[in-house]
Amino acid sequence: MTSQRTRDRLVKRLEAQGITNQRVLESIAKVPRHLFIDEALSHRAYEDTALPIGLGQTISQPFMVAKMTELVLGDSLAGEPEPQRVLEIGTGSGYQTAVLATLVPQLFSIERIAALKQRASGLLFRLGLNNVRLSHADGYEGWPAGGEFEAIIVTAAPPEIPQALLQQLADGGRLIIPVGDDQQQLQVIRRRGRNFETEFVESVKFVPLLGGIN
Ligand code: SAM
Repeated sequence: MTSQRTRDRLVKRLEAQGITNQRVLESIAKVPRHLFIDEALSHRAYEDTALPIGLGQTISQPFMVAKMTELVLGDSLAGEPEPQRVLEIGTGSGYQTAVLATLVPQLFSIERIAALKQRASGLLFRLGLNNVRLSHADGYEGWPAGGEFEAIIVTAAPPEIPQALLQQLADGGRLIIPVGDDQQQLQVIRRRGRNFETEFVESVKFVPLLGGIN
């Protein structure tokens, strides 16, 4: 079966699981997830599962990528505008980065492991996704020189919400983040002026957001 057909099958499955944003589904149908995975595992690329990418890290489960991307884009029915500038913490394989890059004008992404950042950089270049800036840094600090972001997505779980990320959120913006140690909750924190409103989305399991770089 071609990778396009297996990708289309994955999209149908995500739709059945409740992903409704057509732009997100189109992006999943387009981005070749098998390129972001070691060749030995690439036959499993379109299974709805997280897979190891080396260095103790994983490529996220497609359902979670789709769900978090929907949350980044916002709920147009509730009047949430789509973000223009997005910050991602935890580039990993670069797959979630690639999905986002097909959907938002400007994307910034931080990875603490240099080798992963380098590999993702090559793949994004190969796919012609040139609206992404990558940084090898500690995502706990956010991207202080990057100004404010209308959405920030974190793909590893800190025990508590990093204050720097709240500070770098634009008014009206949202932070999408798994929080907790063993018991993690995916949260959306919306900034309204000086106030922050928290929505609990669902229980999740992510690798920990670690301090420092490697
Ligand atoms: N979404 C990614 C994908 O599709 O491949 C998977 C991300 S993986 C679950 C989490 C990533 O966060 C890992 O690559 C890990 O090295 C990175 N990470 C953990 N702590 C970090 C930190 N403080 N700053 C930046 N990246 C961090």
